[in-house]
Parts: sequence; structure tokens; C-alpha cells
Amino acid sequence: MTHLFHRQLRQTLPEAASAKGLYITDTAGKTYLDACGGAAVSCLGHNHPDVIAAMAAQMARLDYAHTSFFTTRVAEELADTLIAQAPEGISHVYLLSSGSEAMEAALKMARQYFVELGQPRRTNFIARRQSYHGNTLGALAVGGNAWRRAQFAPLLIDVTHVAPCYEYRDRLPTETPEQYGQRLVRELEAELLRLGPDTVIGICAEPVVGATLGAAPPVPGYFQGIRALCDRYGVLLIADEVMCGMGRTGTLHALEQEGIVPDIMAVAKGLGGGYQAIGAVLAHGRVYDAFDSGSGQFMHGHTYIGHPVACAAALEVQRVLQREKLVEASRVQGLALRRKLDAALGGHAHVGDIRGRGLFLALELVADRASKQPFDPKLRLNGRIRDEALARGLMVYAMGGTIDGRHGDHVLLAPPFTVQERDLDTLVERLAESVEAALAGLPA
Ligand code: PLP
Repeated sequence: MTHLFHRQLRQTLPEAASAKGLYITDTAGKTYLDACGGAAVSCLGHNHPDVIAAMAAQMARLDYAHTSFFTTRVAEELADTLIAQAPEGISHVYLLSSGSEAMEAALKMARQYFVELGQPRRTNFIARRQSYHGNTLGALAVGGNAWRRAQFAPLLIDVTHVAPCYEYRDRLPTETPEQYGQRLVRELEAELLRLGPDTVIGICAEPVVGATLGAAPPVPGYFQGIRALCDRYGVLLIADEVMCGMGRTGTLHALEQEGIVPDIMAVAKGLGGGYQAIGAVLAHGRVYDAFDSGSGQFMHGHTYIGHPVACAAALEVQRVLQREKLVEASRVQGLALRRKLDAALGGHAHVGDIRGRGLFLALELVADRASKQPFDPKLRLNGRIRDEALARGLMVYAMGGTIDGRHGDHVLLAPPFTVQERDLDTLVERLAESVEAALAGLPA
């Protein structure tokens, strides 16, 4: 009998014993190719000796120092490194310990920003349907998954939701991608006007939607349109780059590819690459300045923020990314993986779409390619693919149409940026077999 309160009480999981590079090994000696970095976390692969050495050295020097008493060299260096790489205008880093904490802090920072400016009437956020921004109550409130939210209502903050950018399903045949993007921006503006722009704090969006839509990228001009709206109405753009950020899409920040700078950005996952639990909020200078010339205090904090060992891990992860040119590798290997997926599965009767950017790619499975009709979520095709893949020694992140019942099952791939050509071949081969086996196992 286990005393560990597992997420899924009735599931028996293999026991992970060790990991190296792209592979995790269980206690039975079976190896698993980590094709999803856990949940798009492991950007360097497992057990990188430089990161382990940096963490051990930091641990030996200074294990912990509470941030209300001390700053630390390692936290300052991490912030300097992140700002040196950040888009123009982003000036400060607030450290957290996870993606949900980063989003939670981002929302509170945005709220307090307007308090500092003397605009406390701004209390509304606008986010997008089917989105996921974390599991704490504030982050869950901005999240737009009906099924995740349902049990926890009433949620803590005022949020309304507009359509996400989901080209595969929602672009009309008569529209160009740009026209589709502009239509979405007009809908967003209508929502802003309905709420009253001077009641709105910010617009929250994940630039490339990961867990809930399956690596769904924005159409050209969409985020530029949102940026322009935010500027026109004095509303903040809050980018959730927890999953798609830190090199995952082939540039360090996903929004770089849209040519715009957010006011507040949340990062996590790839920041620490799985070596430690760490997240961060990156704030634009104008946000920081409001605090600096206002109360001089952000009303937020947690016991473990800026943990020296977590900072040492993240700092070394960033240094390895630069030394080994791994963000570029994410772009290049992403294109290679895309080609291999197209060749192996692009013509498959049940693969509706293959999409994404960098090493952040997904398949969307459908019952019928022409009508894009999803499989019945009760069939749990996503779970079947995940199980078939695990049996074949392959980890994929598979989610289903249960998210508002509006899309097909999808399989998200987010391997470490250190992935090599031969690993990509193994990945695609095992994935194709797993998809076939899962489909063959569906009830007739
Ligand atoms: N935001 C996005 C876009 C995510 O994908 C996730 C996690 O998957 C989170 C926030 C929450 O991060 P965490 O699980 O580290 O709390």
C-alpha cells in the first residue's frame, strides 16, 4: 500500500530510477525516450554534468538565505543573464518556484501596477478559452478550460474569455491567416469595450498554446494586433511563456517571432530545465517604474523564491544553452522532426494536423480528416496513445478533446534540445507504431 497521494489514485506507474541525456530508466531496467521533456521541461536532457556541478558547488557554499534578509550573487547573476537576453524594454526579474507561481505573481503584479498608478477600478482580466495558465486558484481563474475550472467555482478574480487563435479549426475557408487574426483582434476589442477599457488590467495569452491546444501557433499579425489594442487602451499584455518559452519554439522567447514585447512575461519549465523548481516573471521597465516611483514594494512573496540552488541550476542551464547553441538547435532539430513527422504521419487518415514551432510540435488526431470531426472523448484515444508509447519506451504528452470537447486528441512532442537525428528517427518510429496500436485498440 502506498502512502503517497498520487494524482491518479488508480494508476500504477513505473518507478523511475535514473536518467541520462534523453532517457529515463525505471527500476526494472527499462528505458524511456523522453520525447516531451516531462511536460516541456527538460531542455538539456537529464543529468547534465555542468548543471549538477553548479548546483553542488552552490549547495556547498550557501544552501538557503531568505529573500527578506539577503540577496545572493547567484540570484543577481541569474537576473542579469535573463535581462541581457530579454527583449528591449524588459528590465527586471521576479523569481518564483513554478509556472503557476509565476502566473500568480504576474497577475498580482499587473493588479498592483494599476493600484500604484492610482487606477484601482481596473479589476478585470481577459484571457482565452481553452487556455491553461496553472493550477493555483488565480491562475486557474484566468485559465479557460471549462472542465478544469468547474469544480473550483467561484474562482478568485474577474476574468472573461475570448476565442483562442486556433487556425486549424477556426479559420474560415474564405479568410487568409491574417484576416482570421484580425477578426480575433476585433472580437477582443469588442470584449474590451463591453467591459469598459478602464476596468481592464490585462490580456493574458500563451503565445504558442501548449498543453491545451497542442502547440498551436498564432497567425501572422495576431499578436501585433493585440499589442496595438493594449497600447490604445492602456491595458497590459501578459504573456504566459511557461511552456513555450526559454528556447522551446526556436527563439529564446516565443513572442520574439511575433515582433512584439509584452509588459509582463511568465517563464518556468525550461528556465531550470527540470534540475530545480524555478519560475520567473519578467517585467517591462514601465511596470517596474510604477512600483519604484510608487509604494516601493511588491505585495507578494514565497518562502523559497530566489532559492540559491534553484538559481544556480537555472543560471547554468542558461549558460549551457548559450555555450552549446541549443536554442538554435531547437529551431533546426524542430524542422527536422517536423519533416520526419510529415513523412511518417502526414498522410495518415486520422492525423488532421501537424503543427508547432521549434521542438514544440503536436499531432491532432481526428476521426475524419475531411470534416475534422474529433474522436469521441470517451474513447480516451489520447490516453491510449500515451500508454502504447510508454509500453514502447517513449514518453509523449497526450491530451484529449475533453477540453471543452472542441478539438481532437493531440500528442505533444517537446524533446530536449540536445536531441540528435537518430533519436528523432526512434521517436517518430515508436510514435507511429503507438498511434496505430491505439487506433487498432479502439472498440469497433
Ligand atoms: N502556464 C502554462 C502555459 C503551462 O503549460 C503550465 C504548466 O503546464 C503552467 C502555466 C503551470 O506551470 P506549473 O505546472 O509549473 O505550475
